[in-house]
Amino acid sequence: MPEKNVFQRIIDREIPATIEHEDEQCLAFRDIAPQAPTHILVIPKRPLRSLADAAAEDAALLGHMLTVIRTLAEKLGLQTGYRVVLNCGPDAGQSVDHLHFHLLGGRSFGWPPG
Ligand code: AMP
Repeated sequence: MPEKNVFQRIIDREIPATIEHEDEQCLAFRDIAPQAPTHILVIPKRPLRSLADAAAEDAALLGHMLTVIRTLAEKLGLQTGYRVVLNCGPDAGQSVDHLHFHLLGGRSFGWPPG
């Protein structure tokens, strides 16, 4: 068996996380090293290593996760805006091989990103 990555261990409740949302398809929890006052990760429950591995049949799952992000942003009071980031692959700095969206808010962000 290949070793589980940290997000799979959070899904399996082997390590703790501050969970903000859960449904059959995805889990949302606080980032352990927040880069903004609000920093939440939204991950699919089924193993999907990155956006590069997503197929056409994952479109509904990806759309669902974005809808969860919008709902969380509303619930958490991010009325003045927020940023959604998905790092894909080494050049983008993806450090966990389990697809994840970052929801960042509570401060203003620069552009272009670093
Ligand atoms: P990325 O660099 O896009 O792959 O993002 C991975 C994110 O996972 C980083 O922002 C980390 O701080 C976060 N992270 C790593 N381990 C944990 C953990 N145990 N609980 C919550 N967030 C984590």
